[in-house]
Amino acid sequence: MKYNWSIIGHEKQLNLIESDILSGNISHAYLLAGPNSVGKNTVAKKMSGILQCSNDFCHDCPTCTQVEKGCHLDTIEIIDDKESIKIDDVRKIIERCNMTRQSNYKIFLIQTIERMTTEAANSFLKMLEEPPERTIFILTTNNVRAVLPTILSRVRVVNFAVVSATYLEKKLREMYPTQDEDVIKKVSLFSLGKTGKAVNLMENPEELANYIKVYSDVMFFLEHRNITDRFSYVNDIAEDEGKLETFVSILSNVLRSKILNGENAEDHIRTIIKIDEAMTLIKKNVNLKLVLENLMLSLK
Ligand SMILES: [Zn+2]
Repeated sequence: MKYNWSIIGHEKQLNLIESDILSGNISHAYLLAGPNSVGKNTVAKKMSGILQCSNDFCHDCPTCTQVEKGCHLDTIEIIDDKESIKIDDVRKIIERCNMTRQSNYKIFLIQTIERMTTEAANSFLKMLEEPPERTIFILTTNNVRAVLPTILSRVRVVNFAVVSATYLEKKLREMYPTQDEDVIKKVSLFSLGKTGKAVNLMENPEELANYIKVYSDVMFFLEHRNITDRFSYVNDIAEDEGKLETFVSILSNVLRSKILNGENAEDHIRTIIKIDEAMTLIKKNVNLKLVLENLMLSLK
């Protein structure tokens, strides 16, 4: 590859984007689609860096730094804040589209495009169809089926997927040669082939330490079936949504890796289904503690 992407995996996708750029055949709209935390937003950002930097994506000039930090005037990020993208938000995007450009391109990175309401999407479509010259939209989605067909038909879709654990571990070892083998193995387990997640954990020691702590809690849970201990832990995580999310994600990943190793596969599949059901109930605001206590009782 010509550019220094510093991204694990996704070579096919990066090659495709590079060949569009190098052949001068850039589409005015891309949709990077795939599961969350595989690195789509990072790819979107690096792609913007490549397009905006006049020095072959040098990682060193003010443009590269500004794009990286999210403060580049003509690279506008609409970050996923879990809120829907409404018509007023689209009006602001259109306004910025029509403002004079001072860089190579005007680029809009819109995360999780399925957040756009139908009304907003209808107004966005006109801009997507005929954007001003050298304007590029880079959209991302975790769920391509939730994206309106009218948007899908106007973008170039690039599909991303998780990578294998063996591949991820090999790449992490190359990127972090001084890191403990045990940490590499754990990060690979926590991220389950999601490269964005893996790099994020490697770069954030505090978050990694937190994951390792929860991991040992999860292992304790699976090894000790003392219901009093389990319930007291439930009390603890029921107070903190972030903790709950980490716990559930690590628990499912541990069970998935046990399934891959052929250990009690049927039991674990049943438990994963129960975890998914529990999370659905929690999203529907059913009493959190009650749901978690039921889940603990069903863990084998
Ligand atoms: Zn640069």
